[in-house]
Amino acid sequence: MENKSAGNWIRNIIVQEEIDKYLVNGKDFIDSNEIFTKLTNNINPSKERVREILQKSLSVKTLAPDETAALLNVTSPEIWEEIFHTALEVKKKVYDNRIVFFAPLYCSNLCVNNCAYCGFREANDQEIRRILTFDEIKLETVSVLKEGHKRLILVFGEHYRSDVDYMAAAVKAVYSVSEIAAQSGRPSSIRRVNINAAPMEIAKLRILKGAGIGTYQVFQETYHPQTYHDVHPQNTLKGNYRWRLYALHRAMESGIDDVAIGALFGLYDWRFEVMGLLYHTLDLERHFGVGPHTISFPRMTPASGSKLSSDSPWNVSDDDFMKLVAVLRLSVPTAGMIVTAREKASIKKAVIQLGCTQTDASTRIGIGAYSDQKRETDLDTSQFTIGDPRDLDQVIQEVAKMGFIASFCTAGYRCGRTGETIMGMLSHCDEGKFCKLNAVLTFREYLSDYASDETRQIGESLIMKEIGEIESMDYFKNKPHLLHKFRAEYSEILGGKRDLFL
Ligand code: SF4
Repeated sequence: MENKSAGNWIRNIIVQEEIDKYLVNGKDFIDSNEIFTKLTNNINPSKERVREILQKSLSVKTLAPDETAALLNVTSPEIWEEIFHTALEVKKKVYDNRIVFFAPLYCSNLCVNNCAYCGFREANDQEIRRILTFDEIKLETVSVLKEGHKRLILVFGEHYRSDVDYMAAAVKAVYSVSEIAAQSGRPSSIRRVNINAAPMEIAKLRILKGAGIGTYQVFQETYHPQTYHDVHPQNTLKGNYRWRLYALHRAMESGIDDVAIGALFGLYDWRFEVMGLLYHTLDLERHFGVGPHTISFPRMTPASGSKLSSDSPWNVSDDDFMKLVAVLRLSVPTAGMIVTAREKASIKKAVIQLGCTQTDASTRIGIGAYSDQKRETDLDTSQFTIGDPRDLDQVIQEVAKMGFIASFCTAGYRCGRTGETIMGMLSHCDEGKFCKLNAVLTFREYLSDYASDETRQIGESLIMKEIGEIESMDYFKNKPHLLHKFRAEYSEILGGKRDLFL
């Protein structure tokens, strides 16, 4: 009976006309030959050309494929230093010096696919399967709230038991939880739930939108069509390259206007994948006038029972990882950039200084692992391997020492600053100013409600420095009402109010 209903479900997932409508003359936006040609035609760029490209990034414009290809072809260590330096400059110009924190919550490891690099794949009999009940999702949410998180991304395998109705109910379960912060006695809840899930049709995406999700995230894994077909068996849903390639076009069309792209680095040549991410951005911009809200660039790490995951010829070295992060930062200046706990603490620290804007902390990837308090050191329960198991307070303390302010801001989403609106503000460097104010307000909450003594001490001097900067910025001097509201809300938070934003 179960096999029969699963079979029916699988047959109805892919809606061919919701792929075809985006094609141009029957072609999708990834032309491998064109990418190879761009990479070949732009070897040995002169220092002057690289500097012109860096200036374009600094003017907050998406780069053209030839320009990104030129950056990817730089060989001089001295020019790479300039690229790294400019990447951080672009980030600070667009997003200021804040790092947004979130936690992933894995709801289910049931999956009908067989991706060669993933421990959740159906054929992996080492994996113990579990799907959380909505009460268990609430328990997980309580555990994450106790750390101080305000933003979650829910992660689902692709399975009829975790289809869109389950996802929408999971989102509602998370939003329904309220917890009291032990240090201050103030209430706390998750303010933004993002989703990482399989591609789906527009009608289902509208259900997710109706459930109040923030960003919808789908990684293409690899943009190289042949490699995609090699690692995703053709007889599985995920074997359809174009269904996945247009997942976020459908999301935009459904009204979800914050979409997140990503590639799993290590499946194919990293330079090709960077180009793929750029072409994806350009096609979203062409169709909808706005690119991705965020870009992710996880590196493949060992997964349960997967030889490929620990043995790929395309594994990316730490040095190349720095380069790809910097080039992505410069290629799509308005996109948020996410570095996750897959990376070791030292690498995370390094790429935060190359323009990353978001990271996770206190991450557990086992199903139910937050409330079970299980540390994910055992591959048997992992989709992949975590490189940075530190808790939220430790990571916040580290970034504060680096001069970056932790932000739990969800104001943009709740004030309608999403999609085209937020991307327009980011390109004019306006959103970063709001980010600065809201980062201070949410950091104030964190310091009062959750921080360890040491983090609070470091955080208090950082927050004073930030307030000093805000007070002296011409942007706010010309908008005294904003400054006035910010000061009032900061005082109210000190007095015990929560969830205030601009
Ligand atoms: S990567 Fe995703 S789709 Fe593939 S097996 Fe893992 S959970 Fe399933």
